[in-house]
Amino acid sequence: MNDKRCGYVAIVGRPNVGKSTLLNHLLGQKLSITSRKPQTTRHQVLGVRTEGDTQLIFVDTPGLHLGQSKAINKVMNKAAASALADVDFILFVCDRGKWTEEDDFVLDLVSRESAPAALVINKVDLVDKLDSLIPFTDEIAQRGRFEAVFPVSALRDRGLDELARFIEARAPAGPHLFPDDQVTDRSQRFLAAELVREKIIRQLGDELPYATAVEIEDFAQDQRGVLHIHALILVERAGQKKILVGESGERLKSIGTAARKDMERAFDNKVMLKLWVKVKSGWSDDARALKTLGIDPLGDP
Ligand code: GDP
Ligand code: MG
Repeated sequence: MNDKRCGYVAIVGRPNVGKSTLLNHLLGQKLSITSRKPQTTRHQVLGVRTEGDTQLIFVDTPGLHLGQSKAINKVMNKAAASALADVDFILFVCDRGKWTEEDDFVLDLVSRESAPAALVINKVDLVDKLDSLIPFTDEIAQRGRFEAVFPVSALRDRGLDELARFIEARAPAGPHLFPDDQVTDRSQRFLAAELVREKIIRQLGDELPYATAVEIEDFAQDQRGVLHIHALILVERAGQKKILVGESGERLKSIGTAARKDMERAFDNKVMLKLWVKVKSGWSDDARALKTLGIDPLGDP
């Protein structure tokens, strides 16, 4: 009992460096997205990973979602700082070799915090020689107080085990705040909808998904243990439905296959997934649809 560890981890970085991808992969099978905050925290919890005796609670950092806004105001600054103030570990994520003013901003914020931090250089699958990253890495490392540097590919799942082990070893001793294995039906439905949305984004790019909502209409386990999941994809216009479904249904089929594979991994269960697409203009005014609107786990605009 006394060996239990539990720590709060913030994943920070400017938009597009791969934070959501990193989170999804770090959670992987151990995913238990929770929509309820425990009483003990004022953080917005994005996901929980429990491996053996160690529980990592990944939390959101609201003020860091700067999006396109260059006018970084004090309010944002404060919100981010307060969200970072009481985490146990910070992962500062950047894109290999691609550095912008927004990176500067986030790095400055992180440098002011007292929590230990690691520098995560993401997308190294796009780098020919890792050696070529050394000057870039050195320069950033000098500006922050990083305990370690991890070149990773969140997308290709490279370097993530080492990273996870490192954070786990630094989680403070303490009881787990979330059940180790309990995944609620609600969070499973949420995750199922998220996975469908993610595949739509992967396969169709960023534009269409803003006009889509995913609703899980049915989520049930049959006697043989197979999970039957029916997801309804709502779009605003007939043209969008056409794109989503594709030539003779090819696109929808491939979205469904990819989503099903991830669901089977996440739920550790055989899954039968059915996707429907329905045109419903003005769905975004519909409260029921709105409730199930997919949310980017890291809330970037
Ligand atoms: P966020 O805005 O920081 O949450 O970034 P996302 O996780 O949404 O990723 C932004 C884009 O970078 C997406 O198109 C990802 O597929 C892509 N991406 C994320 N990680 C990697 C990686 O390791 N390698 C490559 N090549 N692309 C990545
Ligand atoms: Mg994101």
